[in-house]
Amino acid sequence: MEEMATMASSLMANRDNIRNFGTVAHIDHGKTTLSDSLIAAAGLINPELSGEVQMMDYEDQEQQRGITINAANISLAFKSGNETSLINLIDTPGHVDFTGEVIRAMRAVDGVVLVVDAVEGVMPQTETVLRQALREMVKPVLFINKCDRLINELQVTEEEMQKKFAKVITHVNQLIFANAADEFKKDWQVDAAKGSVAFGSAKRKWAVSVPYMKKTNINFKQVYEFLKSDNQKELAKISPVHEVVLDMVKTQLPSPLVAQKYRIARIWGGDMEEPIAKTMTATDENGELAMMITDVSVNPHAGDMATGRVYSGTLKAGMTVKLIGSQKEVKISKVGLFMGNDFVTVNEIPAGNIGAIVGLKEVYAGETVSTQEIKQFESFLSNVEPVITVSVEAKQTKDLPKLISVLKQLTKEDPNLRASINPETGEHLLSGMGELHLEVNVYRIENAHKVPVTTGNPIVVYHETLEGDSDVLECKTPNHHNKFKMKVEKIDGELLEKIHEMHHDGRIRDNKDKHVVQKLTEIGLPKEESRKTWAIHNDCLLIDRSRGIVALFEAKELIIDAFMEAVNQGPMAKEHTFGVKVCIEDATLHEDAIHRGPSQVLPAIGKGVHACMLQAGTILYEPKQTLTITVPENFVGAVTGELSQRRTQIKEMRQEGDSAIIIAKAPVKELIGFSSAMRGATQGRAQWTAEYAGYEPLPKELQKKTVAEIRKRKGMDEDVKPFHYFLE
Ligand code: GDP
Repeated sequence: MEEMATMASSLMANRDNIRNFGTVAHIDHGKTTLSDSLIAAAGLINPELSGEVQMMDYEDQEQQRGITINAANISLAFKSGNETSLINLIDTPGHVDFTGEVIRAMRAVDGVVLVVDAVEGVMPQTETVLRQALREMVKPVLFINKCDRLINELQVTEEEMQKKFAKVITHVNQLIFANAADEFKKDWQVDAAKGSVAFGSAKRKWAVSVPYMKKTNINFKQVYEFLKSDNQKELAKISPVHEVVLDMVKTQLPSPLVAQKYRIARIWGGDMEEPIAKTMTATDENGELAMMITDVSVNPHAGDMATGRVYSGTLKAGMTVKLIGSQKEVKISKVGLFMGNDFVTVNEIPAGNIGAIVGLKEVYAGETVSTQEIKQFESFLSNVEPVITVSVEAKQTKDLPKLISVLKQLTKEDPNLRASINPETGEHLLSGMGELHLEVNVYRIENAHKVPVTTGNPIVVYHETLEGDSDVLECKTPNHHNKFKMKVEKIDGELLEKIHEMHHDGRIRDNKDKHVVQKLTEIGLPKEESRKTWAIHNDCLLIDRSRGIVALFEAKELIIDAFMEAVNQGPMAKEHTFGVKVCIEDATLHEDAIHRGPSQVLPAIGKGVHACMLQAGTILYEPKQTLTITVPENFVGAVTGELSQRRTQIKEMRQEGDSAIIIAKAPVKELIGFSSAMRGATQGRAQWTAEYAGYEPLPKELQKKTVAEIRKRKGMDEDVKPFHYFLE
């Protein structure tokens, strides 16, 4: 162990020779098999077993479902010539329901190996993951996998094989051109001659690339002959997959010193003139510490393990750091890196490396860690919010404390998952990105954590918003001593989008939040209104349009509280409200503060906001998902039959090889039960991914019925009272 620590430390210090990369692919194209071969080659698991044991899919459920869910980092030492490099490999989830995790993994790496099945070619999810990588300024290289299938299943000729490759390469390059940043559109094109394309078989453990063929002195014709004569074992000896792929990673993907020069401006939201921006751009190990946590896993023995990328400075055991997002200061006791299943403890991790902190409590994936008060790394949760909720109860009361701690752990590991308690019933609720996301987590609770649970019916999270503007209405406090005149206006379109992108939620403080006011003006709010915006919450604004009423200022904090509560629980169904501008137009207040305390102001403003909204007209929005379905042609009818019963809009239908690809948008509500229905209808032959597609208006004919259902569930009268009821 000691030796490993010494080796790890010296490798980490030589940052020219570090490569941080991930493997990405359409599901089943062989990403996990490839990762295993690379890990096995580094002597970390028995090489004979790799390819059969799916090392990186370490949770048994993932094995059963055959999908990889958790991104974990593994460090490999790779020797080429007399140089040894430190290669950090991050495995990414193979299912787009977990997009948040893919994006987090992309944050830690500078390059990806895009794995594409030679027979299937570029598939919808290949496009998605490549787009995500390019958006984060992560450079791709290409591995064309499953070449054995070309011979065994398609019996292609040598020429046809070359054509197949050319087609995949051209397709990938079109995608790179369309999605890469301008300065990389050309430079990042993959090119077999230059060595940024390799092809082979991860399962049969061989691969070739043009530079490697030169080294081993074999040509394409010979490779074809090896395949044709079913002598892949021999080929794997001459040209082993791990050598070829790691060589491609080493020679074609950038070191952190190169990549951080262009990546920081994209992934960090602060001022690029600040010293911390400069030390991050320079990967300066002597700068202040800046690290982003990209993965958290909770280990009952070792404590929480927070993995992340150090961008600036050096992370050292014993140092005290700030957790910027949660505003805490903590001491780091132990740091290190994974080499396979072994955790190797080291004294320090310099900028450019991926490493883990052990034993940090209360840290979540996405957190920014620094020795200074710095701006956070760009959130990767920007447009992803939980859209579906299920109640989870321990079958046995004695398991309740354990259930609570498991829920806490799961939400820490996956920021797209939230746990809460239903205030009406006291039930534990788990919210996530879709039915599958919740199913997977319930499975983890029961199997990995051994807490048997019962779950309720999944509940969709709706939003409320306005149809138009209201008149100016007057509301009174219960003691009738104070009157407020207010109105609401609809915020939509570009302004709404830009407010959402600001990610500001809360009060606007005169001294601290000048940049927020400035930003509001920049995105199109009149200057006068920006200056008088008191708070932003759920993409709603509270604006004071009155003139110089001193007592109103004294009640400001209460008014903000009431506004936030009013938009947390909208007037129709107590669902989140978005896109509302609440304007206080005028007020007459009692001169004695005792008559305008919380018990007076809170209900008056809360009801006033709801009255204005109802008078303006309100409408329910529902979450949608984009489904990308791949299915053998003879099941297309079965799939469209399923879709047609679910208010689905088919966006695109095309043919790729023997499969049909159907892209459709569907309401999350209608997708409850979709997985099992699809499995039945297609004999399990369809594969699909579901991505968050935002909120859209619920159709008119379903509005009233849905509102009534939600109200009933929440223990309210089914009918919404008319607006004047709130003003009485
Ligand atoms: P992932 O979903 O991208 O991680 O894909 P996996 O690595 O789990 O592989 C999916 C399936 O393809 C598994 O059954 C593998 O054994 C198989 N597979 C992987 N590589 C190859 C290959 O080179 N040739 C063939 N014929 N099958 C492969």
